[in-house]
Amino acid sequence: MLRPIVRYGAEVLHGPSATIEAVTPDIQSLVDDMIQTMYAAPGIGLAAPQVGVGVRIFVCDISMGRNAADLLTFINPSFVERDGMQLEEEGCLSVPGFNATVARPSRAIVKGLDREGQEHTVEGTGLLARCFQHEMDHLDGTLFVDRLRGLQKDLIVRKIRKLARTGKW
Ligand SMILES: [Zn+2]
Repeated sequence: MLRPIVRYGAEVLHGPSATIEAVTPDIQSLVDDMIQTMYAAPGIGLAAPQVGVGVRIFVCDISMGRNAADLLTFINPSFVERDGMQLEEEGCLSVPGFNATVARPSRAIVKGLDREGQEHTVEGTGLLARCFQHEMDHLDGTLFVDRLRGLQKDLIVRKIRKLARTGKW
């Protein structure tokens, strides 16, 4: 089932999400909905708060459905390692229409449970490392906009407020 993606300003996006106690059929069906919603958007990653559910789950697929092995689900993820630095343009399905260059570590290892509740650990470099860190940020209530410097952030936030005032957000 496709779920609506909430946007910047929705409360669930701006606070920490809750740990999952058990990988139940309800949680698996949330994961399935998130995967379907991510592909439909389309996007390379989606975190549960983006569909309005404040729990620690994200899905990602940097191949956007072209390579089945690239589809990853993380429940209760944490970083094992992070290093390096990359500067690339980034966007977010919850901040449509805006992009900005964000500094991120160039390599990240994430561990967490998969859709079946089994622990897995995945190393990402480049785009996948960026994706991991963007989605992990969502679980702590941080959007890429929050990682920008003052003026750049203010500009985007002002534009969003203006869109919201005119009912276009
Ligand atoms: Zn995002």
